[in-house]
Amino acid sequence: MFKMVEKDLIVIGGGPTGSTIASYMSMKGYKVTLFEKEKFPRPHVGESLLPFNYFLFEELGVLDKMETRFHRKPGVKFTNSDGSASTVWYFDHVIKNPSSLSFHVDRAAFDKLLLDRSKELGAIVYEETAVKKVEFKEDENKVIVSTLNKMGQKGEFTADFIIDASGQNTFLANHFKDKSNYEGLDRVAVNSHWNNPSYDKELEEGCIEIIHLGGEKMGWIWAIPISSKRLSVGVVMSADYFKSLRKKYAGESNILDKIYLSELTESPVISKILKNAEKDAPAMAHGDYSYYTNKKYGDQFAIIGDASAFLDPIFSSGIYIGMMSAKFLSESLDEAFQKGLPPSDLIKSVYDDLNGGYDLVEKLIRIFYDPNAISLPNIGLIRNEGYEKFHTAYKIYHFLLQGDFLKNHQKYSKAADILKDTKQLEKYTNFVKSKDSEAVIHP
Ligand SMILES: Cc1cc2nc3c(=O)[nH]c(=O)nc-3n(C[C@H](O)[C@H](O)[C@H](O)COP(=O)(O)OP(=O)(O)OC[C@H]3O[C@@H](n4cnc5c(N)ncnc54)[C@H](O)[C@@H]3O)c2cc1C
Repeated sequence: MFKMVEKDLIVIGGGPTGSTIASYMSMKGYKVTLFEKEKFPRPHVGESLLPFNYFLFEELGVLDKMETRFHRKPGVKFTNSDGSASTVWYFDHVIKNPSSLSFHVDRAAFDKLLLDRSKELGAIVYEETAVKKVEFKEDENKVIVSTLNKMGQKGEFTADFIIDASGQNTFLANHFKDKSNYEGLDRVAVNSHWNNPSYDKELEEGCIEIIHLGGEKMGWIWAIPISSKRLSVGVVMSADYFKSLRKKYAGESNILDKIYLSELTESPVISKILKNAEKDAPAMAHGDYSYYTNKKYGDQFAIIGDASAFLDPIFSSGIYIGMMSAKFLSESLDEAFQKGLPPSDLIKSVYDDLNGGYDLVEKLIRIFYDPNAISLPNIGLIRNEGYEKFHTAYKIYHFLLQGDFLKNHQKYSKAADILKDTKQLEKYTNFVKSKDSEAVIHP
């Protein structure tokens, strides 16, 4: 039976992860106070969402607004660097409900929509108020949080539990001095927006396009149609390659724009799309590209979203992982509070799935950059050469590309291994034809 348990929660950060946990915990009747250091709407990178997000929007009560405000995304196209090979995954190939049509969002508007919703559901939100210090009073089972707002006013708040959703600021990971990098995955992204691009068929339909860049760049380009006339374009490259470009342009003005434009010009695929387009903002760079924290939860705290880990956004996984972690965490926290159990006992299983999900996405990212692996653009070519059964293989990657990498991470991890080495093609063919693959495809 439901009994009302009084617990005060504090959330650091009002991005998609923070506002989602604030909404879920408010819906369950808890007192939630959220601190966000910026005034919303504020710009943010990361504009393409996964189909698995769809039902979260429904539960949060924002689906109708999502449908009227944002551009729809039916699938993903992976293209190789010269455009000679590409494979498109249309989500409705395997999803037979409305969630197959996902969204691309203007982050300023999207993040504000979610934060406003958390207020409507009862969360107390302080914008332009940064959390400066957190003290864990374990003997009293309390957390003391010190804040500073834009007017220079200091505040002190007490809570039973604190959730860090501070994004790349990684507030608690810094507090615990517990932040590590994923080896070999340091990248830099440079991006901007373009008006009046010349869309190819898939961009016209609303698909995100991921263009693989080989060689020393170790990177890729994203093209996200934010609307029928506005395209978000980002170039991701290895940190070493980026440094070499900075050196090349040292002493010149607008270095970032020069790097961005020269990289776009070198790609025949994106050059064609942008040939008549106008860039509408200076290029922005995003570093600090792949890290994780080991100490993600305890009896008085949990760290979710980018505050707990960040991985290369090739698979548009960040917002979904952040929001889904918030949902899972809200369920286990509620159960712990209701039963009077130490929260960490119940949160553990949430983090087992999350860590498994992060491991799987990391594996897929490493495969993406591995020149010996079967590449995502080439999967389609293999099928055209007569391997009809490879159509089935699409399904495996369909589920992954849609967001099914948390609860089912173990099954997909096995399928991903087979892509690692082209020498394993025969094994891959047999796997796809086998009963085993059916089990993976229909979890
Ligand atoms: C180049 C790039 C491209 C990406 N593309 C995609 C994509 O296409 N799809 C996708 O799903 N993801 C993408 N991502 C990832 C995505 O942007 C993040 O995963 C997502 O924003 C995480 O949400 P969050 O709420 O955890 O963090 P954030 O959205 O960063 O929100 C954190 C909030 O905390 C606030 N904050 C920080 N410190 C404090 C403090 N001390 N006190 C109070 N407030 C604080 C910040 O102001 C911020 O508003 C991309 C990321 C990058 C870098």
